[in-house]
Amino acid sequence: MKAHFELKSILQSIDAKGYKSYKEIEGEYKFGEFTLYIDHVQGDPFASPSRVRVRVGQDTAGFPADTYTNRSREGALRDFITRKFHEAINKLSKGKRGSGNSGLISIDNPAQEILERTSAFVNESFVEARFTVGLPAFGRKVADKEAEAIFFDELPEIISCALIFKNLDEDALYKHIKTSEDADFLRNELENLRLIAFVAEGSILPRQSGVSALPLQEDKAVPFLSPDNLKMDVELPNKGQITGLGIPRGITLIVGGGYHGKSTLLKAIELGIYNHIPGDGREYVVSNPNSVKIRAEDGRSIKNVDISPFITNLPLNKDSVSFSTEDASGSTSQAANILEAVEVGADVLLIDEDTSATNFMIRDHRMQELVSKENEPITPFIDKARHLFNEYMVSTILVIGGSGDYFDIADFVIRMTDYKAEDVTLEAKEIVQNNSTGRKVEGDGYFGTVRERIPLPESLDSSKGKREVNIAAKGLHTIAFGTQNIDLDALEQLVANSQTKAIGDAINYAKKYMDGKKSLRQITSLVMLDIGRGGLDVLNPRLSGDYAEFRKLELTAAINRLRTLKVQQKI
Ligand code: ADP
Ligand code: MG
Repeated sequence: MKAHFELKSILQSIDAKGYKSYKEIEGEYKFGEFTLYIDHVQGDPFASPSRVRVRVGQDTAGFPADTYTNRSREGALRDFITRKFHEAINKLSKGKRGSGNSGLISIDNPAQEILERTSAFVNESFVEARFTVGLPAFGRKVADKEAEAIFFDELPEIISCALIFKNLDEDALYKHIKTSEDADFLRNELENLRLIAFVAEGSILPRQSGVSALPLQEDKAVPFLSPDNLKMDVELPNKGQITGLGIPRGITLIVGGGYHGKSTLLKAIELGIYNHIPGDGREYVVSNPNSVKIRAEDGRSIKNVDISPFITNLPLNKDSVSFSTEDASGSTSQAANILEAVEVGADVLLIDEDTSATNFMIRDHRMQELVSKENEPITPFIDKARHLFNEYMVSTILVIGGSGDYFDIADFVIRMTDYKAEDVTLEAKEIVQNNSTGRKVEGDGYFGTVRERIPLPESLDSSKGKREVNIAAKGLHTIAFGTQNIDLDALEQLVANSQTKAIGDAINYAKKYMDGKKSLRQITSLVMLDIGRGGLDVLNPRLSGDYAEFRKLELTAAINRLRTLKVQQKI
């Protein structure tokens, strides 16, 4: 390890030289209160910025043990530190100066969700932040003065603001970690309470707009109220007792007129797989961690999925037991999305009529007369939901405003009126008894087979030959895979670019388990086990602050959307 003044003298010695001479500053430097690690220097001012870490010993940082004692608190503290580091950069760094990304210091920029991130670490010995620095240049010449300002003026101030406990807002810090711990506790309780979701009274579910995840302003939002029948109390370790709607396992319908808050409730449940920051409004809205939003996604590719539980009699004898397409329809994509999710262990399906294929959802009786029985290709979800629960223990929450045909299969019916939830299960059952729809639950009386599939390692080779393809995230919903993109637009439960980056690298990592024998379920489980043991850093030997936690379900979904995927069904 070098002394900090050695960094200064190297920088001075390379001033105005070619950009490549920045390579000389790679290494570790001891500053007064921290250690600086310049792990990787960019080759050019326009290339991805240089990877840098700082560590502050706990003798200086002073985080009390109770801020990171369990996994929940530790994850939340790391998330909190990242946020403070990000704020401090905005406040204290001069930002861009010079060509390309010269002068830019950046760290992961968290939104409403508290996620485990590789941008910050805490243990008994130190706290560490990982970020990037655009090493400054004019043209392509080293700018020493600007680089010195970053490392010797700005960085020490940012570190002092964000990584030293006594300089942080202690109340805000404890609120962050306790809120997150309570949410984890509540989510863990769901299992014991035989629930799939919990929505606390007083929660603010609506967001400011379709493009803003911030809570709708208080004067406009109607806080959530639970229907009496499904109301229950839970005692949280920090907040104490809360009251709210507990949605039991089974099949729940959310009904009601247009614009009364149905989709908003479902959306909150979808994102209840994550913890939310204090003030978000959804702090105590949690769902089963294996809840999956299912939607229609026409245009996606599908590889060897058995969609026969829903769809048979495809045209020209196209195979529905091992169905492949480069351009799925609304209904085939929705069927595949369900079967792929159940294949890897989904516990709850979340379906909204707004984003579903109509013919996948309900059977139209008049249409049935027109299309002969034998040729009728689709068994609507309505006829399979009960079997799916009875045979695979997969629950469903379904938003449906336009059809009472579902009442008979529902365990619970929640009606939204003026953003208020009521339990109308009994009324719905009476309606079914008094006006039989004539609808019988069709099909063979069972769900059908959920087949595991084995991905082949050549799925990840370039089309030209053996060469491995470069995989990189290109924003929240796209992973570049060589020259093609994996389109993740339909994965509505992805919330952060850093998740997509981690998934991109996890696909590459998963290759080591693709031996032509292991199923997708096994492979993705093994990847998650490795991450559970070694953290997200296992995905890449080059330490990176770029990753945030993701689920096996999204990893699998990304692999399933690889257009070069080759899979065999497991026999
Ligand atoms: P639906 O799915 O029943 O048609 P949405 O959930 O899309 O209705 O909600 C319609 C509008 O009402 C949205 O703009 C949403 O943000 C807003 N909204 C939903 N819930 C609330 C609430 N509790 N308070 C205030 N506005 C809400
Ligand atoms: Mg809606």
